[in-house]
Amino acid sequence: MEAGEKFNLNLRNLFINTPKNFSKTEIKYKNFRKYTYSEFFERIQGLAHGLESIGVKRGDVVAVIDWDTDKYLEAYFAVPMMGAVLHTVNIRYPPEIIYYTMNHAEDKYVILRDEFLPIIEKNAQLFDFIKGWIVYSDEGKEINSKLKPLYYYDDIVKKNHYEFPDLDENTTATIFYTSGTTGFPKGVTFTHRKLVMHTLALSNAVQYPPLNLTRDHTFMILVPMFHVHSWGIPFSAILNGNKYVLPGRYEVGTILELLKNENVKFSAMVPSILYMILSAPNLESYKEYLNGWKIVIGGAALPRGLAMRARSLGIITIGAYGLSETAPLLTIATYNDEIQNADPEIKFNFSITTGIPVPMVNLRVVDQNMNDVPSDGKSVGEIIVRAPWLTTGYYKDPNKTEELWKGGWMHTGDLAVINPNGYISIVDREKDAVKSGGEFIPSLVLENAISELKGVGEVAVVGKSDEKWGERPVAFIVKTSNINEKDVIEHLNKYVEVGRIQKWWIPDQIIFVESIPKTSTGKSDKKQLKEHLLR
Ligand code: AMP
Repeated sequence: MEAGEKFNLNLRNLFINTPKNFSKTEIKYKNFRKYTYSEFFERIQGLAHGLESIGVKRGDVVAVIDWDTDKYLEAYFAVPMMGAVLHTVNIRYPPEIIYYTMNHAEDKYVILRDEFLPIIEKNAQLFDFIKGWIVYSDEGKEINSKLKPLYYYDDIVKKNHYEFPDLDENTTATIFYTSGTTGFPKGVTFTHRKLVMHTLALSNAVQYPPLNLTRDHTFMILVPMFHVHSWGIPFSAILNGNKYVLPGRYEVGTILELLKNENVKFSAMVPSILYMILSAPNLESYKEYLNGWKIVIGGAALPRGLAMRARSLGIITIGAYGLSETAPLLTIATYNDEIQNADPEIKFNFSITTGIPVPMVNLRVVDQNMNDVPSDGKSVGEIIVRAPWLTTGYYKDPNKTEELWKGGWMHTGDLAVINPNGYISIVDREKDAVKSGGEFIPSLVLENAISELKGVGEVAVVGKSDEKWGERPVAFIVKTSNINEKDVIEHLNKYVEVGRIQKWWIPDQIIFVESIPKTSTGKSDKKQLKEHLLR
């Protein structure tokens, strides 16, 4: 090989200049701790050194069980950079599924917050495959546990030089499990090369209006760190030198205080978190800090009603789309040249769609024969993709992998239309779609329309089986004022008149509920809603 020919796209090389270039930029964990980047990169050397000293070797899977903390961020970097594999455990799964994923991923070591000890200790005998538990508490208090062998994070993480290896770029860096609501979750893995490519594309994608992110924006990401590498944002934020605030467990009070005190300007979250924040009883007192806050909403469609409410407070929301299988970023609803100079209302309409593909994402919307549907904003097809950072398959599951990669393209199972100006709008998931009288009712379009009615907080539409039509739509609504079924129907009839929805899409039944059940990643749990209908 010629000298200089091979350069590994690994995390060590990606961040080679970061601690020097942004030496004074801060990383802050609530009011507990803060570090400069320069200290942070020293700490991750200390963590890698400590992990190696207790036996962690290349290829070993190191799990993390925590809220969004500084320790978690240290593991995001140290574990893959030393050649081990980071398993970000979904702490919202039921305990038996947590155990299933840790066993399936063949975890060897676990970095664990004291708060989660009881879940593990209850079934400690099951975890005999774990070679070391590394525990900590926020307060640095003594931890008593029968787990063995037990190490204290602060004891093993000391100031120590550690030379990160120049790993082959195809070394596995991360593993985690999908938030699927049926059966056992599926594992997906990502290599260093994939994470590097994803980080660069994400860094590019957020530069465009209305986001216009620069290094002056302080970030506070409200996507749990177990959910698809928090959408890859920790890596791109640190690469770009953004001040980074970690909120721990999500509590509205803490989030709003951090927004105010740390001058947070950018966040990402699923719609239900934004809804929770905007429902805070004392929101009014944070008004000036909400103004100008930029938020990327992903993981589920951004309901128009929610985006309008955010806009009325000066918050700029835009949609983004991806999957666990895609690391996750595929599209983001920044302005392209077609709409850059359009009226503000038109721009708003596009900023809440699924968006446009980011660099290197080859995205198609196809019919059942994998032929592209026309870009007419009407023809519905499945989104299929190719990009440098997609998972190669489901861990230890060749059958599901084959389905996922049918015909050499990754099949997302998401149904969408492409607008003539290039914007994609997801209208449903294949498995959630309501099929009525042989035709299909796009539940997300219907939810969007309902969300605009004043008094609607959250809404989810699902199909209920029907003798005559196969299925008919039912809307579950959380109301914020005294609206009734008639108000909803009248509101929808207005949209029928202007051609935004069709008459026969109007739900047969409206059910007002206290709350919409959520999946482990905070999305509407349509499976549970359907089960509710059977009761
Ligand atoms: P997960 O792997 O749990 O993050 O779920 C991925 C799924 O979430 C996708 O296949 C979509 O169905 C849904 N999703 C993610 N982002 C969006 C979006 N912007 N609009 C609509 N659905 C989305």
